[in-house]
Amino acid sequence: MTLLSIENLNAHFHTEDGAVRAVNGIDLNIEEGEKLGLIGETGCGKTVLGLAILRLLSENTKIEGKILYKGKNLLTMSDNEIRKIRGKEIAMIFQNPLSSMNPVLTVGTQVAEPVELHQHLKKQDAMRRVIEMLKSVKIPLPQERVKEYPHEFSGGMRQRAMIAMGLICMPSLIIADEPTTGLDVTIQAQIVELMKEVLRDSGTSMLLITHDLAVASELCDNIAVMYPGEIVEYGSVRDLFKDPKHPYTRGFLNSLPSKGFKPITGTSPSLINLPKGCKFHPRCSLATDKCKIKRPELIKVGKKHYVRCFLYD
Ligand code: SF4
Repeated sequence: MTLLSIENLNAHFHTEDGAVRAVNGIDLNIEEGEKLGLIGETGCGKTVLGLAILRLLSENTKIEGKILYKGKNLLTMSDNEIRKIRGKEIAMIFQNPLSSMNPVLTVGTQVAEPVELHQHLKKQDAMRRVIEMLKSVKIPLPQERVKEYPHEFSGGMRQRAMIAMGLICMPSLIIADEPTTGLDVTIQAQIVELMKEVLRDSGTSMLLITHDLAVASELCDNIAVMYPGEIVEYGSVRDLFKDPKHPYTRGFLNSLPSKGFKPITGTSPSLINLPKGCKFHPRCSLATDKCKIKRPELIKVGKKHYVRCFLYD
């Protein structure tokens, strides 16, 4: 059953330099229990899409389209209704826990916040639940560590605490924004293993926002590849790795260390000044004149495999 359905979503915000067109006509579904990876280079609009789902974008953002959660449009809900969903039904694990956590509150107080707010647990009961959660994300001596402040935790332990905070209300959907960025390789592997385990046990759906294709392939069932503001390819992890279709996806895969670390030439366009036609044409060795004027549609190339490129017209 479909849990979240994003329909023709646009999110643009105004700056002194012009309109930033961060999300342009995105359609995506997340099924119950599905783990979907949203991958792309930094600044391609992935985080804006995650924040749009929870209505956490600044007021100067113009959002159009629909984001249906269990059939109800999150974009037209009252502030009160969306507050009841945030943290309880849909939770977010933010990147960089040190800046996302409050330095003057203990970790226990912060992890307890969602259950106190949504499940109206008394402080003592909430703290008991926090200790259980910290234990489930393998934080040693949780009854002691709840009293510590974020700076007393290592980077990996802070990320575990953020995962505990995200899952404490047992949400239906978790949005994890670069949960392993900034961690060293060993800790990153431990966090990936931990997320696999807790997501499998809880059955929670996930939207994983990452620039790391290797992490997405470990944690996700399906992957949507984003290139400035739009989805250029969508498919199962197997489709994307075995038979990537879009020249950008192929370039992205070739830039992995395991494939020889060949970076894609050129840089991503500014979201203020997007090229006409196919947004990838200035970097694409296969571009034709048509690519420079016309925007390709997302077309079906396999059972659940879609690509936005004229090569498959
Ligand atoms: Fe390259 Fe054209 Fe395909 Fe865009 S539509 S990826 S420019 S071949």
